[in-house]
Amino acid sequence: MQRGIPVSPGIAVGRVYVCEGGRDLRHQVEHTTAHDFETEWLRLQDAARRADRELAKLVEEVRAELGDAEAAIFESQRAILRDGAVEKEMREILERGGVSAEKALASVIEKYGRMLGSAHDEYLRARAADIRDVGQRSLSILLDEDQDALIAREEHVVAVAREVIPSRLLGLLKQKVAGVVTDRGSRTSHAAILCRSYGIPAVTGVTQVLDKVSLGDTIALDGSTGEVWVNPDKKVLDELCRRRQERSVLWQELASKKHLPALTKDNVRIHVNANIRIFRDAHTAVAAGAEGVGLFRTEFMYMNARNLPDEEEQVSAYRSVIQEIAPNPTTIRTLDLGGDKMPRGLETPREPNPFLGLRSIRLSFKRPDVFKTQIRAILRAAESGPTKLMFPLVTTVDEMKRACDIVEQAKRELKQEDLPHDPNVPVGLMIEVPAAALMIESMMAVADFASIGTNDLIQYVQAADRTNPQLVDLYDALAPAVLWTIKHVVDGCRKAGKAVAVCGEMAARPLGVLSLIGLGVRELSVGTSFVPVVKGIIRSLSCKEMTRLAEKALRLDSGAEIEKMYHDVLMQIAPWAEDVA
Ligand code: PEP
Ligand code: MG
Repeated sequence: MQRGIPVSPGIAVGRVYVCEGGRDLRHQVEHTTAHDFETEWLRLQDAARRADRELAKLVEEVRAELGDAEAAIFESQRAILRDGAVEKEMREILERGGVSAEKALASVIEKYGRMLGSAHDEYLRARAADIRDVGQRSLSILLDEDQDALIAREEHVVAVAREVIPSRLLGLLKQKVAGVVTDRGSRTSHAAILCRSYGIPAVTGVTQVLDKVSLGDTIALDGSTGEVWVNPDKKVLDELCRRRQERSVLWQELASKKHLPALTKDNVRIHVNANIRIFRDAHTAVAAGAEGVGLFRTEFMYMNARNLPDEEEQVSAYRSVIQEIAPNPTTIRTLDLGGDKMPRGLETPREPNPFLGLRSIRLSFKRPDVFKTQIRAILRAAESGPTKLMFPLVTTVDEMKRACDIVEQAKRELKQEDLPHDPNVPVGLMIEVPAAALMIESMMAVADFASIGTNDLIQYVQAADRTNPQLVDLYDALAPAVLWTIKHVVDGCRKAGKAVAVCGEMAARPLGVLSLIGLGVRELSVGTSFVPVVKGIIRSLSCKEMTRLAEKALRLDSGAEIEKMYHDVLMQIAPWAEDVA
């Protein structure tokens, strides 16, 4: 058994299908022979044209099925095909002679994939998958390989790849893929998002997995625990069968109550909202029983677009989500890009310390045109249903005032232009920076509400990069300093009579739920698939008891002790939660 990073929950067992990017394709490339330059260059161009046609078709299909934001993934892959630098490099390799089109293409993909794959920024690393994906598509065309014929012979397949590749994955999902296992990847890669959207169990970070499997092997995975078995024996299969049955009963039970409000055992009402990033998530959120959208991460729209979306495009995108979620509210967060996470048209100079640099609202202030356009679009779309506007990474009270001034300016403009909008949209901020947390009372004199973004708050309180696997012990949601900071924010908001929610990952983790309720949080916002689970955990606990435990936790000195205390309690009240969350 090997253990990787669980990316999408569920159990899958099936025949190994070595995906593109696997060693079979590499082997075939090595055995190609070169013709003259003209022939190889024409073959390469023809393959690129065919790949572009395939991608254009895919864009249309995905747009119809999932929406504009997901279709943009494949639009950006089309842009890679048209990239002049990549084309020039391949031409130069071929001109040197004695190299096949396949080899030229494979070496350029490898070079760019490696370059981006080793970038510090998670977004850029995820783009390495796009380069490889589009490259493998063209390679497959060149090699005249029909992967689908292979898959047609199998009953169930588990796609095994060096890296998760979005377009190939979509093709597989339409067929018989039961799960996905990869060597490289992250929770934020496009393919991981697609797996979760489609409910396909997936595990990533399984080191050298391609060297451990052959076509025809059986592979099993548990996407909740990250376990992977190659050619599992009967004992393992029986165990997985048992887990599956147990979880399916559990899911049915959770699903039967997903549309009911979440009340603790002592009848305290907790609101459970959803975090979304694409239009399709809005529909899923409603189906999962979410009581609204607590965080709409709009940057996804920008990151995948070839150009920045204009005001009209944004109005229409936000409107679709707001209408889907109405009569419940949609909380739209303004652009949260930063560091190297730059879409075209918003590039800034490289910074030595991107997480402490020009990111998020700081970047928005540098680009008032982009910022105001987004605010105008949100105010206009808000006319179609309950909407809240939220600013990320606010540090000082002055920043919050400045952002609110821009909202007021936008309202005045819209009024002058006679454009319908909602002038009463509540304006809030995310508490992600310790400075903002410490100043919560003053912040609340300006803001209508707050939402604690624990993903960033933890990294800044603990001074531990949220993407650095070496710092997992320090990057601790249950560290006493983190709990004290949250308590300070919750108390401050309560004093000011303003609502406070938590929308970071912590709100979706079982021990996080126990601690947050105890600290006085009454509104959580979590990934759509976690809504029924979080509601189930809430129903298992007593608010009074959690308050007592939080008081105890705040007297402890170490995150490990606090975790043990909450873990013991979870085992008593909802031991099932660890398997499904
Ligand atoms: C957070 O920081 O907790 C948050 C929700 O924002 P993001 O994860 O998008 O940075
Ligand atoms: Mg954040």
